[in-house]
Amino acid sequence: MDDLTSGTRNKRGDWSPSHHPEIAFYWKTPFELRKWGKFLIDYVWPWNAFHMAITLLYWHYILPDWEVMKTLSWDWALWLYAVNGLGIFLLYGSIELVYYVKRRQGTRFKYNAKFPSEQPSDVFWFKSQNIDNFLRSYLSGIVFWTLVEVLMLWCYANHYVYWLNWSEHPVWLTLLLFATPLIHEVNFFVIHRVIHIPFFYKWIHSVHHNSINPSPWSSLSMHPVETFLYHGVVWWHLVLPSNPLIALFQLHMAGYGALNGHIGFDKLELSDETALDSHAYLHYLHHKYFEVNYGADGLIPLDYWFGTWHDGSKEAQAKMDERYAKKVARLNS
Ligand SMILES: [Zn+2]
Ligand SMILES: [Zn+2]
Repeated sequence: MDDLTSGTRNKRGDWSPSHHPEIAFYWKTPFELRKWGKFLIDYVWPWNAFHMAITLLYWHYILPDWEVMKTLSWDWALWLYAVNGLGIFLLYGSIELVYYVKRRQGTRFKYNAKFPSEQPSDVFWFKSQNIDNFLRSYLSGIVFWTLVEVLMLWCYANHYVYWLNWSEHPVWLTLLLFATPLIHEVNFFVIHRVIHIPFFYKWIHSVHHNSINPSPWSSLSMHPVETFLYHGVVWWHLVLPSNPLIALFQLHMAGYGALNGHIGFDKLELSDETALDSHAYLHYLHHKYFEVNYGADGLIPLDYWFGTWHDGSKEAQAKMDERYAKKVARLNS
């Protein structure tokens, strides 16, 4: 595929898309029916359909009996940790293998022309971004994801929270299911904005930001507090009357879905003609510039409203530079 038909490459070899990401269309033209059709297809396919498929697999084959989950125990907690760990190994590992180790598409559609393995650095364990990020995913990211999952399931098993049935509340639960990406974005923006406050940044979030040029293993390479807050998006379903299937889907959107922002490529070529959109550009820019794009795709465009939206355009760059200059002047005075 020719990546220069839809983007440009600078002197360093870094590729960027010519068409800049936009906030969800309905904030500008809510009544354009034609756009709703395409939007809803993209909303579901392929990523959220994938998360739902994984969720149904867990629901039918992985989760222990609800009777068992009434009591907290290492047995089923370690079982869930093992499954989450294996699932992530298969998903992240296969993307890493094909696009970073075998480099099947070279640097086509790659935002940063360098691969992390070419850039050893002292900020990482063993000077290697890959080893560091991999170990942190398994020692912290997936551990605290599983902890959140165990607590959530235990609350449902004991009926400490509302558990609505699909047969009695089909409309509300369907609406809630469709709202999960919106909940994800609001939750992510809020906790992410908080851990960018200098004190928390230094203590917590700097671990994740060591990867300026993120790759799949960077996704869950987080400080324990960050991964607990990030996967804690599930608490929304303990407060709002919900159903554990939707809560589990919400959790997988966070855990498995963390990959999206860190793929490093705008498109993953599947064949000579077809490619999968990664939706990674906005979060790639966050790793590059730090103080922009705290949220996700702009479904609820909090960055846009708070002035931290960066779509890669010259205008957005100028706005960010102006903000930095003001900040520096403020700190100096
Ligand atoms: Zn990130
Ligand atoms: Zn950040």
